[in-house]
Amino acid sequence: MDIFIQVVYFVAAVLFIMGLKKMSSPVTATGGIVWAGIGMIAASLVAFFEPGVFTHTSNVVLIIIAIGIGSAIAYITAKRVQMTDMPQMIAIYNGMGGGAAAAIAAVELVKMAGGHGGGSAHELSSTAQVLAVLGALIGAVSFSGSAIAFAKLQGLMKKTIRLPMHMVINSGLFVLTVIAGAIIGFSGDVSIQLVLLFFILALVFGVLFTIPIGGADMPVVISLFNALTGLAVAFEGYVLENAAMIIAGTVVGSAGTLLTQLMAKAMNRPISNILFASFGSDGGAAAEEDIEGSMKEIQGTDAAIMMAYAEKVIIVPGYGMAVAQAQHKVSELTKILEARGVKVMFAIHPVAGRMPGHMNVLLAEAGIDYDKILDLDEVNPEFPTADVALVIGANDVVNPVARTNPDSPIYGMPILDADMAKNCIVIKRGKGSGFSGIENHLFYADNTRMLYGDGQKAVGELISGIKEM
Ligand code: NDP
Repeated sequence: MDIFIQVVYFVAAVLFIMGLKKMSSPVTATGGIVWAGIGMIAASLVAFFEPGVFTHTSNVVLIIIAIGIGSAIAYITAKRVQMTDMPQMIAIYNGMGGGAAAAIAAVELVKMAGGHGGGSAHELSSTAQVLAVLGALIGAVSFSGSAIAFAKLQGLMKKTIRLPMHMVINSGLFVLTVIAGAIIGFSGDVSIQLVLLFFILALVFGVLFTIPIGGADMPVVISLFNALTGLAVAFEGYVLENAAMIIAGTVVGSAGTLLTQLMAKAMNRPISNILFASFGSDGGAAAEEDIEGSMKEIQGTDAAIMMAYAEKVIIVPGYGMAVAQAQHKVSELTKILEARGVKVMFAIHPVAGRMPGHMNVLLAEAGIDYDKILDLDEVNPEFPTADVALVIGANDVVNPVARTNPDSPIYGMPILDADMAKNCIVIKRGKGSGFSGIENHLFYADNTRMLYGDGQKAVGELISGIKEM
Protein backbone atom coordinates (compact mmCIF):
# COMPACT_ATOMS: atom_id res chain seq x y z
CA MET A 1 0.00 0.00 0.00
CA ASP A 2 2.86 2.34 0.87
CA ILE A 3 4.32 1.97 -2.62
CA PHE A 4 0.89 2.71 -4.14
CA ILE A 5 0.56 5.89 -2.06
CA GLN A 6 4.05 7.10 -3.00
CA VAL A 7 3.44 6.39 -6.71
CA VAL A 8 0.20 8.41 -6.65
CA TYR A 9 1.97 11.31 -4.87
CA PHE A 10 4.71 11.19 -7.50
CA VAL A 11 2.21 11.20 -10.38
CA ALA A 12 0.35 14.10 -8.70
CA ALA A 13 3.61 16.05 -8.45
CA VAL A 14 4.36 15.41 -12.15
CA LEU A 15 0.82 16.61 -13.01
CA PHE A 16 1.41 19.84 -11.00
CA ILE A 17 4.64 20.55 -12.88
CA MET A 18 3.17 19.74 -16.32
CA GLY A 19 0.08 21.80 -15.47
CA LEU A 20 2.22 24.77 -14.51
CA LYS A 21 4.21 24.44 -17.73
CA LYS A 22 0.98 24.51 -19.74
CA MET A 23 -0.17 27.63 -17.87
CA SER A 24 2.68 29.59 -19.47
CA SER A 25 0.66 30.08 -22.68
CA PRO A 26 -2.95 31.26 -22.94
CA VAL A 27 -3.56 28.59 -25.61
CA THR A 28 -2.78 25.71 -23.22
CA ALA A 29 -3.53 27.38 -19.87
CA THR A 30 -7.04 25.93 -19.41
CA GLY A 31 -5.65 22.43 -19.99
CA GLY A 32 -2.88 23.17 -17.48
CA ILE A 33 -5.42 24.03 -14.81
CA VAL A 34 -7.28 20.76 -15.48
CA TRP A 35 -4.03 18.73 -15.24
CA ALA A 36 -3.00 20.38 -11.98
CA GLY A 37 -6.56 19.93 -10.67
CA ILE A 38 -6.48 16.18 -11.42
CA GLY A 39 -3.13 16.01 -9.57
CA MET A 40 -4.69 17.77 -6.59
CA ILE A 41 -7.71 15.42 -6.51
CA ALA A 42 -5.43 12.35 -6.75
CA ALA A 43 -3.16 13.60 -3.94
CA SER A 44 -6.16 14.45 -1.73
CA LEU A 45 -7.87 11.07 -2.27
CA VAL A 46 -4.77 8.95 -1.71
CA ALA A 47 -4.15 10.78 1.59
CA PHE A 48 -7.12 8.83 2.98
CA PHE A 49 -5.11 5.60 2.53
CA GLU A 50 -2.25 6.85 4.72
CA PRO A 51 -1.73 4.53 7.70
CA GLY A 52 -3.75 5.49 10.74
CA VAL A 53 -6.31 7.68 8.96
CA PHE A 54 -9.21 5.23 9.35
CA THR A 55 -8.38 4.40 12.99
CA HIS A 56 -10.39 7.45 14.03
CA THR A 57 -13.64 7.20 12.05
CA SER A 58 -15.01 10.38 13.62
CA ASN A 59 -11.99 12.30 12.22
CA VAL A 60 -12.62 10.92 8.73
CA VAL A 61 -16.23 12.11 8.93
CA LEU A 62 -15.07 15.57 10.02
CA ILE A 63 -12.51 15.69 7.17
CA ILE A 64 -15.15 14.75 4.60
CA ILE A 65 -17.58 17.37 5.98
CA ALA A 66 -14.81 20.03 5.87
CA ILE A 67 -13.87 19.10 2.28
CA GLY A 68 -17.56 19.22 1.31
CA ILE A 69 -18.12 22.68 2.83
CA GLY A 70 -14.84 24.05 1.40
CA SER A 71 -15.53 22.69 -2.09
CA ALA A 72 -19.09 24.08 -2.11
CA ILE A 73 -17.93 27.56 -1.04
CA ALA A 74 -15.08 27.51 -3.59
CA TYR A 75 -17.36 26.34 -6.42
CA ILE A 76 -20.03 28.96 -5.77
CA THR A 77 -17.64 31.89 -5.26
CA ALA A 78 -15.50 30.95 -8.28
CA LYS A 79 -18.60 30.78 -10.49
CA ARG A 80 -19.82 34.18 -9.32
CA VAL A 81 -16.58 36.15 -9.19
CA GLN A 82 -16.15 39.02 -11.65
CA MET A 83 -12.89 39.16 -13.62
CA THR A 84 -12.01 42.48 -11.94
CA ASP A 85 -12.38 40.83 -8.51
CA MET A 86 -9.98 38.00 -9.35
CA PRO A 87 -6.95 39.46 -7.46
CA GLN A 88 -8.80 39.40 -4.12
CA MET A 89 -10.07 35.89 -4.79
CA ILE A 90 -6.49 34.77 -5.36
CA ALA A 91 -5.50 36.59 -2.16
CA ILE A 92 -8.04 34.76 -0.03
CA TYR A 93 -7.31 31.32 -1.51
CA ASN A 94 -3.60 31.89 -1.16
CA GLY A 95 -4.14 32.89 2.47
CA MET A 96 -6.04 29.62 3.01
CA GLY A 97 -3.00 27.69 1.71
CA GLY A 98 -0.72 29.52 4.14
CA GLY A 99 -3.25 28.98 6.94
CA ALA A 100 -3.47 25.24 6.15
CA ALA A 101 0.33 24.90 6.27
CA ALA A 102 0.40 26.79 9.59
CA ALA A 103 -2.42 24.58 10.93
CA ILE A 104 -0.45 21.42 10.08
CA ALA A 105 2.53 22.88 11.93
CA ALA A 106 0.31 23.84 14.88
CA VAL A 107 -0.94 20.25 15.20
CA GLU A 108 2.60 18.86 15.07
CA LEU A 109 4.02 21.43 17.52
CA VAL A 110 1.14 21.04 19.99
CA LYS A 111 1.58 17.26 19.84
CA MET A 112 5.30 17.77 20.40
CA ALA A 113 4.54 19.94 23.42
CA GLY A 114 2.77 16.90 24.84
CA GLY A 115 -0.65 18.49 24.89
CA HIS A 116 -2.39 16.08 22.53
CA GLY A 117 -5.16 14.57 24.64
CA GLY A 118 -2.88 14.75 27.64
CA GLY A 119 -0.83 11.89 26.18
CA SER A 120 2.93 11.58 25.92
CA ALA A 121 4.98 14.04 23.86
CA HIS A 122 5.22 13.37 20.13
CA GLU A 123 8.70 12.93 18.62
CA LEU A 124 9.83 14.97 15.59
CA SER A 125 13.34 14.70 14.13
CA SER A 126 15.41 17.81 14.83
CA THR A 127 15.22 18.90 11.16
CA ALA A 128 11.44 18.33 11.05
CA GLN A 129 11.09 20.33 14.28
CA VAL A 130 12.92 23.35 12.77
CA LEU A 131 11.07 23.09 9.45
CA ALA A 132 7.71 22.80 11.24
CA VAL A 133 8.46 26.11 13.00
CA LEU A 134 9.64 27.81 9.80
CA GLY A 135 6.55 26.61 7.93
CA ALA A 136 4.37 27.79 10.81
CA LEU A 137 5.95 31.25 10.78
CA ILE A 138 5.74 31.72 7.03
CA GLY A 139 2.27 30.16 6.74
CA ALA A 140 0.81 32.25 9.57
CA VAL A 141 2.26 35.50 8.16
CA SER A 142 0.95 34.60 4.71
CA PHE A 143 -2.49 33.77 6.16
CA SER A 144 -3.09 36.99 8.10
CA GLY A 145 -1.28 39.15 5.49
CA SER A 146 -3.38 37.69 2.66
CA ALA A 147 -6.55 38.35 4.69
CA ILE A 148 -5.57 42.04 4.89
CA ALA A 149 -4.74 42.05 1.15
CA PHE A 150 -8.20 40.62 0.47
CA ALA A 151 -9.86 43.26 2.69
CA LYS A 152 -8.03 46.07 0.88
CA LEU A 153 -8.77 44.83 -2.63
CA GLN A 154 -12.40 44.12 -1.74
CA GLY A 155 -12.72 47.71 -0.47
CA LEU A 156 -13.48 46.52 3.09
CA MET A 157 -10.39 48.35 4.31
CA LYS A 158 -9.98 51.64 2.50
CA LYS A 159 -7.02 53.28 4.18
CA THR A 160 -3.39 52.29 4.43
CA ILE A 161 -2.53 52.37 8.12
CA ARG A 162 0.94 53.46 9.09
CA LEU A 163 1.51 53.45 12.85
CA PRO A 164 4.04 55.86 14.31
CA MET A 165 7.44 54.16 14.12
CA HIS A 166 5.89 51.40 12.04
CA MET A 167 9.22 50.01 10.85
CA VAL A 168 10.56 49.87 14.42
CA ILE A 169 7.42 48.12 15.71
CA ASN A 170 7.48 45.64 12.82
CA SER A 171 11.18 44.90 13.24
CA GLY A 172 10.75 44.42 17.01
CA LEU A 173 7.75 42.14 16.50
CA PHE A 174 9.61 40.12 13.89
CA VAL A 175 12.61 39.63 16.19
CA LEU A 176 10.31 38.52 19.06
CA THR A 177 8.53 36.05 16.74
CA VAL A 178 11.84 34.62 15.53
CA ILE A 179 13.11 34.25 19.13
CA ALA A 180 9.92 32.40 20.16
CA GLY A 181 10.23 30.24 17.02
CA ALA A 182 13.90 29.51 17.69
CA ILE A 183 13.16 28.35 21.25
CA ILE A 184 10.43 26.02 19.92
CA GLY A 185 12.54 24.84 16.97
CA PHE A 186 15.68 24.01 18.93
CA SER A 187 14.45 23.11 22.40
CA GLY A 188 13.52 19.63 23.57
CA ASP A 189 11.02 20.89 26.12
CA VAL A 190 8.33 23.16 24.69
CA SER A 191 5.19 24.47 26.40
CA ILE A 192 1.84 24.88 24.70
CA GLN A 193 1.69 28.48 25.95
CA LEU A 194 4.89 29.30 24.05
CA VAL A 195 3.55 27.67 20.85
CA LEU A 196 0.37 29.73 21.22
CA LEU A 197 2.33 32.96 21.80
CA PHE A 198 4.49 32.21 18.75
CA PHE A 199 1.43 31.82 16.52
CA ILE A 200 -0.19 35.01 17.85
CA LEU A 201 3.03 36.97 17.23
CA ALA A 202 3.34 35.58 13.68
CA LEU A 203 -0.30 36.37 12.85
CA VAL A 204 -0.05 39.92 14.22
CA PHE A 205 3.20 40.44 12.29
CA GLY A 206 1.40 39.42 9.06
CA VAL A 207 -1.27 42.06 9.73
CA LEU A 208 1.15 44.87 10.65
CA PHE A 209 3.44 44.04 7.73
CA THR A 210 0.58 44.38 5.23
CA ILE A 211 -1.55 47.29 6.49
CA PRO A 212 0.82 50.12 5.42
CA ILE A 213 1.10 48.82 1.85
CA GLY A 214 -1.11 50.66 -0.67
CA GLY A 215 -4.13 48.78 -2.07
CA ALA A 216 -2.81 49.11 -5.62
CA ASP A 217 0.45 47.36 -4.71
CA MET A 218 -1.45 44.39 -3.33
CA PRO A 219 -1.07 42.17 -6.42
CA VAL A 220 2.71 42.18 -5.96
CA VAL A 221 2.28 41.49 -2.24
CA ILE A 222 -0.13 38.64 -3.00
CA SER A 223 2.40 37.17 -5.39
CA LEU A 224 5.01 37.37 -2.61
CA PHE A 225 2.66 35.71 -0.10
CA ASN A 226 1.95 33.08 -2.74
CA ALA A 227 5.67 32.28 -2.91
CA LEU A 228 5.79 32.15 0.90
CA THR A 229 2.76 29.84 1.07
CA GLY A 230 4.49 27.47 -1.36
CA LEU A 231 7.57 27.42 0.85
CA ALA A 232 5.49 26.81 4.00
CA VAL A 233 3.68 23.90 2.30
CA ALA A 234 7.05 22.40 1.21
CA PHE A 235 8.38 22.62 4.80
CA GLU A 236 5.28 20.98 6.22
CA GLY A 237 5.52 18.34 3.47
CA TYR A 238 8.91 17.42 4.93
CA VAL A 239 7.40 17.24 8.42
CA LEU A 240 4.61 14.93 7.20
CA GLU A 241 7.01 13.04 4.86
CA ASN A 242 4.66 13.84 1.98
CA ALA A 243 6.51 14.01 -1.37
CA ALA A 244 3.61 15.66 -3.25
CA MET A 245 3.49 18.52 -0.75
CA ILE A 246 7.26 19.03 -0.93
CA ILE A 247 7.30 19.13 -4.74
CA ALA A 248 4.10 21.19 -5.16
CA GLY A 249 5.21 23.63 -2.45
CA THR A 250 8.64 24.08 -4.00
CA VAL A 251 7.12 24.63 -7.46
CA VAL A 252 4.65 27.22 -6.12
CA GLY A 253 7.40 28.87 -4.07
CA SER A 254 9.74 29.29 -7.02
CA ALA A 255 6.99 30.29 -9.48
CA GLY A 256 5.71 32.88 -6.98
CA THR A 257 9.22 34.26 -6.44
CA LEU A 258 9.79 34.59 -10.19
CA LEU A 259 6.41 36.26 -10.67
CA THR A 260 7.08 38.75 -7.87
CA GLN A 261 10.42 39.62 -9.45
CA LEU A 262 8.90 39.97 -12.92
CA MET A 263 6.14 42.28 -11.65
CA ALA A 264 8.59 44.45 -9.75
CA LYS A 265 10.88 44.58 -12.81
CA ALA A 266 8.01 45.53 -15.14
CA MET A 267 7.13 48.36 -12.73
CA ASN A 268 10.84 49.22 -12.54
CA ARG A 269 10.71 49.25 -8.75
CA PRO A 270 12.77 47.24 -6.29
CA ILE A 271 10.64 44.83 -4.22
CA SER A 272 11.79 46.66 -1.05
CA ASN A 273 10.23 49.86 -2.44
CA ILE A 274 6.90 48.09 -3.03
CA LEU A 275 6.85 46.58 0.45
CA PHE A 276 8.02 49.55 2.46
CA ALA A 277 7.33 52.76 0.50
CA SER A 278 3.50 53.17 0.39
CA PHE A 279 3.66 53.92 -3.35
CA GLY A 280 0.26 54.36 -5.00
CA SER A 281 -1.38 54.37 -1.59
CA ASP A 282 -3.86 56.98 -0.53
CA GLY A 283 -0.86 58.97 0.68
CA GLY A 284 -0.04 59.27 -3.02
CA ALA A 285 3.31 59.70 -4.69
CA ALA A 286 2.26 62.19 -7.30
CA ALA A 287 5.03 64.11 -8.96
CA GLU A 288 3.08 66.89 -10.61
CA GLU A 289 5.03 68.98 -13.02
CA ASP A 290 4.49 71.57 -15.73
CA ILE A 291 2.80 70.14 -18.75
CA GLU A 292 2.62 71.98 -22.04
CA GLY A 293 -0.54 71.95 -24.15
CA SER A 294 -4.09 71.05 -23.24
CA MET A 295 -6.34 67.99 -23.45
CA LYS A 296 -8.31 68.06 -26.71
CA GLU A 297 -11.67 66.32 -26.78
CA ILE A 298 -13.04 64.33 -29.72
CA GLN A 299 -16.58 63.09 -30.31
CA GLY A 300 -17.34 59.42 -30.95
CA THR A 301 -18.41 59.99 -34.58
CA ASP A 302 -15.18 61.83 -35.47
CA ALA A 303 -13.06 59.18 -33.75
CA ALA A 304 -15.00 56.50 -35.66
CA ILE A 305 -14.16 58.18 -39.00
CA MET A 306 -10.47 58.34 -38.05
CA MET A 307 -10.42 54.64 -37.26
CA ALA A 308 -12.53 53.49 -40.20
CA TYR A 309 -10.15 55.10 -42.69
CA ALA A 310 -6.98 53.92 -40.94
CA GLU A 311 -4.74 51.21 -42.38
CA LYS A 312 -3.32 50.09 -39.07
CA VAL A 313 -4.87 50.47 -35.59
CA ILE A 314 -3.18 49.41 -32.36
CA ILE A 315 -5.49 48.96 -29.37
CA VAL A 316 -3.92 49.49 -25.94
CA PRO A 317 -6.15 48.13 -23.16
CA GLY A 318 -5.59 49.00 -19.49
CA TYR A 319 -7.18 48.75 -16.09
CA GLY A 320 -10.14 50.92 -17.17
CA MET A 321 -11.14 48.35 -19.82
CA ALA A 322 -11.40 45.79 -17.04
CA VAL A 323 -13.44 48.17 -14.85
CA ALA A 324 -15.78 48.94 -17.75
CA GLN A 325 -15.91 45.27 -18.83
CA ALA A 326 -15.50 46.62 -22.35
CA GLN A 327 -13.68 43.60 -23.79
CA HIS A 328 -16.67 42.23 -25.73
CA LYS A 329 -17.35 45.62 -27.32
CA VAL A 330 -13.64 45.84 -28.16
CA SER A 331 -13.89 42.45 -29.85
CA GLU A 332 -16.90 43.67 -31.88
CA LEU A 333 -15.01 46.85 -32.85
CA THR A 334 -12.06 44.72 -34.00
CA LYS A 335 -14.33 42.64 -36.22
CA ILE A 336 -16.00 45.59 -37.95
CA LEU A 337 -12.67 47.34 -38.50
CA GLU A 338 -11.17 44.17 -39.98
CA ALA A 339 -14.22 43.79 -42.20
CA ARG A 340 -13.27 47.20 -43.64
CA GLY A 341 -9.70 46.01 -44.26
CA VAL A 342 -8.10 47.75 -41.27
CA LYS A 343 -5.20 45.85 -39.68
CA VAL A 344 -5.87 45.64 -35.94
CA MET A 345 -3.43 44.54 -33.25
CA PHE A 346 -3.36 44.66 -29.46
CA ALA A 347 -0.52 45.99 -27.36
CA ILE A 348 -0.22 44.41 -23.92
CA HIS A 349 1.98 45.87 -21.22
CA PRO A 350 3.20 43.30 -18.65
CA VAL A 351 1.63 45.26 -15.74
CA ALA A 352 -1.47 46.62 -17.49
CA GLY A 353 -4.49 46.19 -15.20
CA ARG A 354 -4.09 44.94 -11.67
CA MET A 355 -2.76 41.42 -11.98
CA PRO A 356 -0.36 39.60 -14.29
CA GLY A 357 -2.05 38.54 -17.50
CA HIS A 358 -5.15 40.64 -16.64
CA MET A 359 -5.59 41.97 -20.19
CA ASN A 360 -4.76 38.65 -21.87
CA VAL A 361 -7.45 36.92 -19.83
CA LEU A 362 -10.09 39.53 -20.71
CA LEU A 363 -9.23 39.56 -24.41
CA ALA A 364 -9.20 35.75 -24.52
CA GLU A 365 -12.62 35.74 -22.81
CA ALA A 366 -13.89 38.05 -25.58
CA GLY A 367 -12.56 35.68 -28.27
CA ILE A 368 -9.72 37.85 -29.64
CA ASP A 369 -7.19 35.73 -31.57
CA TYR A 370 -3.92 35.23 -29.65
CA ASP A 371 -1.85 36.09 -32.72
CA LYS A 372 -3.24 39.65 -32.67
CA ILE A 373 -2.08 40.15 -29.08
CA LEU A 374 1.49 41.42 -28.95
CA ASP A 375 3.90 41.96 -26.05
CA LEU A 376 5.65 45.25 -25.39
CA ASP A 377 8.87 44.33 -27.24
CA GLU A 378 7.01 43.01 -30.27
CA VAL A 379 4.53 45.87 -30.60
CA ASN A 380 6.61 48.98 -29.87
CA PRO A 381 8.29 49.04 -33.31
CA GLU A 382 4.77 48.99 -34.84
CA PHE A 383 3.56 52.28 -33.30
CA PRO A 384 5.36 54.76 -35.63
CA THR A 385 3.60 53.20 -38.63
CA ALA A 386 0.18 52.97 -36.92
CA ASP A 387 -2.47 55.47 -38.04
CA VAL A 388 -4.33 55.26 -34.74
CA ALA A 389 -3.36 54.05 -31.26
CA LEU A 390 -6.64 53.52 -29.38
CA VAL A 391 -5.94 53.62 -25.63
CA ILE A 392 -8.83 52.17 -23.60
CA GLY A 393 -8.60 52.80 -19.87
CA ALA A 394 -4.80 52.61 -19.83
CA ASN A 395 -2.78 55.37 -18.23
CA ASP A 396 0.57 54.63 -16.56
CA VAL A 397 1.58 52.04 -19.14
CA VAL A 398 1.46 54.69 -21.90
CA ASN A 399 2.89 57.64 -19.94
CA PRO A 400 5.92 59.00 -21.84
CA VAL A 401 7.19 60.63 -18.65
CA ALA A 402 8.61 57.18 -17.79
CA ARG A 403 11.15 57.82 -20.54
CA THR A 404 11.92 61.45 -19.88
CA ASN A 405 11.67 62.51 -16.23
CA PRO A 406 14.14 60.90 -13.78
CA ASP A 407 12.14 62.40 -10.86
CA SER A 408 8.94 60.60 -11.83
CA PRO A 409 7.95 57.56 -9.71
CA ILE A 410 7.51 55.57 -12.91
CA TYR A 411 10.80 56.70 -14.48
CA GLY A 412 12.51 53.78 -16.18
CA MET A 413 9.36 51.65 -16.46
CA PRO A 414 9.24 50.40 -20.06
CA ILE A 415 6.06 51.81 -21.66
CA LEU A 416 4.00 51.21 -24.77
CA ASP A 417 4.93 53.87 -27.35
CA ALA A 418 1.33 54.98 -28.09
CA ASP A 419 2.56 58.60 -28.34
CA MET A 420 4.56 57.63 -31.42
CA ALA A 421 1.50 56.64 -33.45
CA LYS A 422 0.30 59.18 -36.05
CA ASN A 423 -2.86 59.73 -33.99
CA CYS A 424 -3.78 58.65 -30.51
CA ILE A 425 -7.35 58.38 -29.18
CA VAL A 426 -7.68 57.93 -25.42
CA ILE A 427 -10.89 56.59 -23.89
CA LYS A 428 -11.36 57.40 -20.19
CA ARG A 429 -14.12 58.78 -18.03
CA GLY A 430 -12.53 62.06 -17.02
CA LYS A 431 -9.33 63.43 -15.63
CA GLY A 432 -8.71 60.54 -13.20
CA SER A 433 -5.08 59.58 -12.77
CA GLY A 434 -3.67 56.09 -13.08
CA PHE A 435 -2.40 53.81 -10.36
CA SER A 436 0.76 55.86 -9.79
CA GLY A 437 -1.28 59.04 -9.28
CA ILE A 438 0.73 61.16 -11.71
CA GLU A 439 -0.29 63.25 -14.72
CA ASN A 440 0.08 61.70 -18.16
CA HIS A 441 1.85 63.77 -20.83
CA LEU A 442 0.35 61.66 -23.58
CA PHE A 443 -3.11 63.16 -22.91
CA TYR A 444 -1.76 66.67 -23.66
CA ALA A 445 0.18 65.76 -26.82
CA ASP A 446 -0.68 67.42 -30.16
CA ASN A 447 -1.56 64.10 -31.79
CA THR A 448 -3.82 62.92 -28.91
CA ARG A 449 -7.60 63.29 -28.70
CA MET A 450 -9.63 62.42 -25.61
CA LEU A 451 -12.86 60.46 -26.04
CA TYR A 452 -14.49 60.87 -22.62
CA GLY A 453 -16.85 58.24 -21.26
CA ASP A 454 -17.10 54.82 -19.71
CA GLY A 455 -15.01 52.34 -21.72
CA GLN A 456 -17.93 50.17 -22.81
CA LYS A 457 -20.12 53.10 -23.82
CA ALA A 458 -17.33 54.89 -25.70
CA VAL A 459 -16.38 51.79 -27.70
CA GLY A 460 -20.10 51.34 -28.40
CA GLU A 461 -20.15 54.86 -29.88
CA LEU A 462 -17.19 53.98 -32.12
CA ILE A 463 -18.97 50.84 -33.32
CA SER A 464 -22.20 52.67 -34.17
CA GLY A 465 -20.21 55.50 -35.79
CA ILE A 466 -18.38 53.06 -38.09
CA LYS A 467 -21.56 51.10 -38.87
CA GLU A 468 -23.32 54.28 -39.95
CA MET A 469 -20.66 55.07 -42.56
P1 NDP B 1 -3.95 52.77 -14.66
O1 NDP B 1 -4.40 52.28 -13.34
O2 NDP B 1 -2.66 53.51 -14.74
O3 NDP B 1 -5.08 53.73 -15.29
C1 NDP B 1 -6.37 53.27 -15.49
C2 NDP B 1 -7.18 54.40 -16.13
O4 NDP B 1 -8.43 53.84 -16.48
C3 NDP B 1 -7.44 55.57 -15.20
O5 NDP B 1 -6.69 56.69 -15.59
C4 NDP B 1 -8.96 55.81 -15.28
O6 NDP B 1 -9.21 57.17 -15.64
C5 NDP B 1 -9.40 54.86 -16.40
N1 NDP B 1 -10.67 54.20 -16.10
C6 NDP B 1 -11.09 53.69 -14.93
N2 NDP B 1 -12.31 53.19 -15.05
C7 NDP B 1 -12.71 53.38 -16.35
C8 NDP B 1 -13.87 53.07 -17.09
N3 NDP B 1 -14.94 52.48 -16.54
N4 NDP B 1 -13.91 53.42 -18.40
C9 NDP B 1 -12.86 54.03 -18.98
N5 NDP B 1 -11.72 54.34 -18.32
C10 NDP B 1 -11.65 54.02 -17.01
O7 NDP B 1 -3.98 51.51 -15.63
P2 NDP B 1 -2.84 50.82 -16.52
O8 NDP B 1 -3.43 49.53 -16.93
O9 NDP B 1 -2.35 51.76 -17.56
O10 NDP B 1 -1.62 50.62 -15.55
C11 NDP B 1 -1.62 49.65 -14.53
C12 NDP B 1 -0.94 50.22 -13.32
O11 NDP B 1 -1.15 49.31 -12.23
C13 NDP B 1 0.57 50.36 -13.50
O12 NDP B 1 1.03 51.54 -12.86
C14 NDP B 1 1.10 49.12 -12.80
O13 NDP B 1 2.41 49.31 -12.31
C15 NDP B 1 0.10 48.96 -11.68
N6 NDP B 1 0.03 47.59 -11.16
C16 NDP B 1 -0.18 46.55 -12.00
C17 NDP B 1 -0.16 45.27 -11.53
C18 NDP B 1 -0.33 44.09 -12.43
O14 NDP B 1 0.01 43.00 -12.03
N7 NDP B 1 -0.86 44.27 -13.63
C19 NDP B 1 0.04 44.99 -10.11
C20 NDP B 1 0.16 46.17 -9.30
C21 NDP B 1 0.16 47.41 -9.83
P3 NDP B 1 -10.65 57.84 -15.33
O15 NDP B 1 -10.85 57.69 -13.86
O16 NDP B 1 -10.52 59.24 -15.79
O17 NDP B 1 -11.66 57.06 -16.12
